[in-house]
Amino acid sequence: MKRPFVTKEQAEAIAARYPTPFHIYDEGGIRANARRLYRAFAWDPGFREYFAVKATPTPGILKLLKEEGCGVDCSSLTELMMAQRCGFRGEEIMFSSNDTPAEEFALAARLGAIINLDDISHIDTLLAAAGSVPRKICCRFNPGGVFQLGESEEGFQVMDSPGDAKYGMTREQIAQAFRRLKELGAEEFGIHAFLASNTLSNDYYPALARILFRLAVELREETGCRVTFIDLSGGVGVPYRPEQPENDIAAIGEGVRRAYEEVLVPAGMGDVALCTELGRFMLAPYGHLITRVIHEKHIYKDYIGVDACAADLMRPAMYGAYHHITVLGKEDVPCTHKYDVTGALCENNDKFAVDRMLPEIRVGDLLAIHDTGAHGHAMGYQYNGRLRSAELLLRQDGSVTLLRRAETPEDYFATVVWDADV
Ligand SMILES: *Cc1c(COP(=O)(O)O)cnc(C)c1O
Repeated sequence: MKRPFVTKEQAEAIAARYPTPFHIYDEGGIRANARRLYRAFAWDPGFREYFAVKATPTPGILKLLKEEGCGVDCSSLTELMMAQRCGFRGEEIMFSSNDTPAEEFALAARLGAIINLDDISHIDTLLAAAGSVPRKICCRFNPGGVFQLGESEEGFQVMDSPGDAKYGMTREQIAQAFRRLKELGAEEFGIHAFLASNTLSNDYYPALARILFRLAVELREETGCRVTFIDLSGGVGVPYRPEQPENDIAAIGEGVRRAYEEVLVPAGMGDVALCTELGRFMLAPYGHLITRVIHEKHIYKDYIGVDACAADLMRPAMYGAYHHITVLGKEDVPCTHKYDVTGALCENNDKFAVDRMLPEIRVGDLLAIHDTGAHGHAMGYQYNGRLRSAELLLRQDGSVTLLRRAETPEDYFATVVWDADV
């Protein structure tokens, strides 16, 4: 059963100061989870998590993760700028982008970030933008085909199609890229791959690690390049549904360690550092979208209208994603009513839940929408003139810190040229 990390009383007290809707993050939960990750990979002294900024591009969150030893994984100019302003320096920044504009390579190189090249042609883009290739560089691998794991009667536990994904280089290209980069002066090489998203399996990282470890051994033999780090990227998932199993990060770390012992150590590569670029796993469960019920409507179905909408959390509208909902103060009341929970956008997909069994809801109730800490506020937009909500941090001492204020109409109008000559 999913329990929110705030009570009704807490949420009402917070809402008295910061009107709903708002996203709130749980400092204690974020820190404890980051520590579990670092414990799981403590056997690899070079291990570092580069938090995928796109999941939660909120400086307060990035600073907190920095204190836990994390770097940042950026993929755009503004994410690089944010990382810089948060105090991340040099190799604390991974730049894993694709279809990359030249100016972004230039900034990444200036910051001394580790640049992860998505395509062999980007070597030339990087050269033109930065004048040289950095001493330490990474290439993204795409094995093509289909990636699947854990066949059972219900199907595969993990299934994705790298062959249809726009990312990374082919096997031949990555060897070619290594040779070229070496000629251009690179000395330390890394490889990266992202084969499946939101995996609920302790076997995903170990399986990916085996693929990358074997590739690292082959590339060293073929090209003579010194592979010093391997980036397992993101993709470790979270259970959005209450009945789904949770990943066990300690078991995942142990699985990767076994692959490391079996593949890298015998090849004399037992000094390779590992890194991850987790986003969802680091933050999703530690955020809630808190919203108040402002209407109920009974037509052919029963609707609960809340003051948040898809502009605050796009995943249900965009992917039909499930986000668990708790009616605060009614945690133990039986779910006897079937509702659609809707926002105000003039789009019929603006529904946080469809045909969801919940306790009886009254106007004025507060709802906690779960698992919004990653790809929640971050995917916000302003369609229909709906403005993005505030982001708050629930501190370990129970106090609340504002990380980002809610947008105002002035923000919405800020880019308009009012006196355009039309
Ligand atoms: C999105 C992304 C991540 C993070 O993915 P999660 O599923 O949130 O862990 C990591 N690396 C890259 C390159 C990404 O694009």
